[in-house]
Amino acid sequence: MNNLEKGRKFVAGGLTTAMILTGLSGCGYVEAKNKQPTITNSVPSPTEIPPTPTLIPTLEPTPTPTLEPTPTTAPSPTEVPLTPTPEKRANPSVIINRGNPNKPEIAFTFDDSGKGLHEILNICNQRGIKSTFFLLSGELKANPDIWRQAVKDGHQICNHTVGHRMDLSKLPEAEIKKEILGWEKVALEVLGEEYLERMKRDFPYFRAPGGHQSERLQQVLGELGYPITAYWSAEDCWTMEPKNNPNNLTLAQNYLIRLKNGAIFLAHGGSAGSVAEVIDGAEEKGYSFKLLSEILD
Ligand SMILES: [Zn+2]
Repeated sequence: MNNLEKGRKFVAGGLTTAMILTGLSGCGYVEAKNKQPTITNSVPSPTEIPPTPTLIPTLEPTPTPTLEPTPTTAPSPTEVPLTPTPEKRANPSVIINRGNPNKPEIAFTFDDSGKGLHEILNICNQRGIKSTFFLLSGELKANPDIWRQAVKDGHQICNHTVGHRMDLSKLPEAEIKKEILGWEKVALEVLGEEYLERMKRDFPYFRAPGGHQSERLQQVLGELGYPITAYWSAEDCWTMEPKNNPNNLTLAQNYLIRLKNGAIFLAHGGSAGSVAEVIDGAEEKGYSFKLLSEILD
């Protein structure tokens, strides 16, 4: 089964955009300024306006858009539509929030950057747990030795962009590509070509800052070789907001009540103090921690 099929198999059934938009946070990151999305609705063609004599003079000077090779009007139904992409487009990246529901295995995944992640890495190593880290490129650049060693120890490092733009899904295609390919460039420098090739082949996962998504972002991800966008089933920011935590559970308790086969846990460096407790609690209940790629098998 290839990765795309894996993603499809475990695709988040009832995941809605609203859930995604409220699902996170960005924990500790300064939100990028929201840019207004580009409005792409086209103005109705002047030729469609009824030929009322009084209107004609004002309509005459309106220039038609200049699309050189093909006429803008469609004189016959056999005319090829104005799509600038002759080649077949890749499938959009699929969002998943759960691995195999038939095995008591869960993936602990960690995002962003900072000392808390180094602490978490140590805890995972001490417990013999392999984890998946969605790092910002700046973290790789700042601590190359730590993350090279992490790879040697069997952890996975995946793409979480360069700038953690919370408006990534709304950016123009070229800007989205810059964020994703910029990360790859740094990963290539720090972790090497063999690693990047292996990542793209065996665990081609992406996690969008704040979990935001859009049709455009999913399409670009698919085209850049990320068939799977990793969402999660439990995390540490949204959950701990008082309105979402009515029973005042601790962070570890909040993870543990969400234990289930194939769960994907997400934590940030600031939650390092609770990670050991989550691991202990889950293992006591018979769950084992795996790489994200392993629970998608
Ligand atoms: Zn993040």
